[in-house]
Amino acid sequence: MQINLAKRLGKLPPYLFAELDRLKKEVQAKGVDVISLGIGDPDLPTPHYIVTALRRAAEKPVNHRYPDYEGMESFRAAAAQWYKRRFGVNFDARAEVCALIGSKEGIGNFSTAVVDPGDIVLIPDPGYPVYFSGCTFNGGEAYFLPLKKQNGFLPEFSAVPSEIARRAKLLWINYPNNPTGAVADLSFFKTAVDFCLSNNIILAHDLAYSEIAYDGYRAPSVFQVEGARECAVEFHSLSKTFSMTGWRVGFVVGNATLVAGLGKVKTNMDSGVFQGIQEAAITALEGGEETLREYCRIYKERRDVMVAALRDLGLACEAPKATFYIWAEVPKGYTSASFSERVLKEAGVVITPGSGFGNSGEGYVRLSITLATERLKEAAERIKALKL
Ligand SMILES: *Cc1c(COP(=O)(O)O)cnc(C)c1O
Repeated sequence: MQINLAKRLGKLPPYLFAELDRLKKEVQAKGVDVISLGIGDPDLPTPHYIVTALRRAAEKPVNHRYPDYEGMESFRAAAAQWYKRRFGVNFDARAEVCALIGSKEGIGNFSTAVVDPGDIVLIPDPGYPVYFSGCTFNGGEAYFLPLKKQNGFLPEFSAVPSEIARRAKLLWINYPNNPTGAVADLSFFKTAVDFCLSNNIILAHDLAYSEIAYDGYRAPSVFQVEGARECAVEFHSLSKTFSMTGWRVGFVVGNATLVAGLGKVKTNMDSGVFQGIQEAAITALEGGEETLREYCRIYKERRDVMVAALRDLGLACEAPKATFYIWAEVPKGYTSASFSERVLKEAGVVITPGSGFGNSGEGYVRLSITLATERLKEAAERIKALKL
């Protein structure tokens, strides 16, 4: 028989990291010791106190059963408490917080909750690929908002044609930003909230990198802006903050109707986060400031090493105030893809072509500093030897 997969799968570009992985394996197969600055996945381990909490929680039979899809009350309360401490914002843990199997799950399913076929979704370009996948799987129409260097990699809402703004259903933003490393202040969030309220657009803010910050920078929450609760949700993840990418736990906060909508999708599609992991996540959210500061100090040291090395090579880049990504301009005569390919094949270093995050990422590459400083230095040396 002939197997025909759903047409929606054909509408997706190949998942960027899968492509990179394939090429990386090809180079590795030739015996090259590949250094990967590709995927943003913390190399620093989950802090020990969190692992201990999981070990304890795993012993309890009550945790072995199906969890509630929306998360344990104690987990949602801990998430709300964390928001109050960190941002001074109050949420009703029952109605305005929902646990997620990592924020990627929530981001994907949120589109199912709010996007109808033909709806316009405003998506930053470059951006995290899941905003587009969620839009496309649900028959939405993506309208890309270019993030340009001259605007500090913030979208310009005033440049959105009024016809598009009127038809738009959902806007995605993400600051501190992956892949550009850019940050936004409260006045930008206020502009976003005003734009959404005046055009009846749902605002979804992806705050995955709020705690990975340097030089005294503190990332704000969109809920520090008045009126945000009328239109917005904010996705948060323990993945980057606590080096817990493999654990799959995050949460969403915000407008109760929107949170309930996502919850409805989830009841139908999944059965929540393992309770043992939720208990460990509560422990994570309740403490460990010391470890987090130490981790940020390590990332900052790496950032400084890498930024200096890149500038030495003649690649223009900003030192990011947050995230563990450096967004660097490719040398003259290269595209994002041709430069990344040469660096991988000849230097054995994986970097991510900016164009993989959208057309406006052309001319850039993203380097992730989730590797020991010594390896970063070696990667820089190897790229230097290419004599660009
Ligand atoms: C890593 C990341 C996420 C998702 O993280 P989870 O592990 O699924 O919680 C979401 N958004 C951005 C921009 C990310 O970089």
